[in-house]
Amino acid sequence: MPELPEVETVRRGLIPVLEGKILKAIDVYRDGLRYPFPPLFKERLKGQQILNLTRRAKYLLLHLNECQTLVIHLGMSGRLRAEDASSFVLQKHDHVVFYSNESKAIAYNDARRFGLMDLVQTTRLNDHPLFRHLGVEPFDDDLTPEVFHNLLKKRQNSIKVALLDQRMIVGVGNIYASEALWASGIHPLRVSDSLTLKDSRNLLDHIRKVLKRAIEAGGSTLKDHQQPDGKLGYFQHQFAVYGRDLSSCPREKCLGYIKKETLGGRSTFYCDKCQN
Ligand SMILES: [Zn+2]
Repeated sequence: MPELPEVETVRRGLIPVLEGKILKAIDVYRDGLRYPFPPLFKERLKGQQILNLTRRAKYLLLHLNECQTLVIHLGMSGRLRAEDASSFVLQKHDHVVFYSNESKAIAYNDARRFGLMDLVQTTRLNDHPLFRHLGVEPFDDDLTPEVFHNLLKKRQNSIKVALLDQRMIVGVGNIYASEALWASGIHPLRVSDSLTLKDSRNLLDHIRKVLKRAIEAGGSTLKDHQQPDGKLGYFQHQFAVYGRDLSSCPREKCLGYIKKETLGGRSTFYCDKCQN
């Protein structure tokens, strides 16, 4: 599943293709994805200018004029592909194609169709059922170590499970939670409210570093996820612990081995020698 760095990579890749452009035409090849498309979807998008592209958690937000925002979620296998409209060829699982006034075709392709698109009034985004319960963004300036520490203090489950709770902090995701906990030397089974302010500062710092590194590398990601220009991310080759059970711990001088455990239904990778 694309995580925050992949979605951020897609957003950055789409900015030169979509920002400031006008949606000249939209082709829609089915009634919806995970949910039906909103009523008059094509008609409401046609002729709209894309003012800017932002991201909230793993949602891409295309802010249009007339105070509308097109919300896109890539689900499990969604991809956005930008091509010249003149040489565009519809591919299997292309469900929506946007055509810009600068002769680009941007296809939304999704084999498993767990993605979604919706049109929302921009001023009411925060009240939308998709966004209402979302926690803080990991890069938000308001998320200070003190604020993070207070959030962690309210939870009695394991820190690994707490980090995946989107009501607390969004977009950390399963892979990056394991990586950030290892980098911080914090055991994934530690109870969230046992972390000190120093631990919280350390963990927040590493969450940001791990996510930033992944964004710079173009997202992690899964074999069926690509950047808009078709390039695959390569961060997957740089994981310290994720998917590396039974390997020796990459921390210098640590003689431990990476273990795998299931926490809250998700695979968790850690070293029980240097994470405590
Ligand atoms: Zn270790």
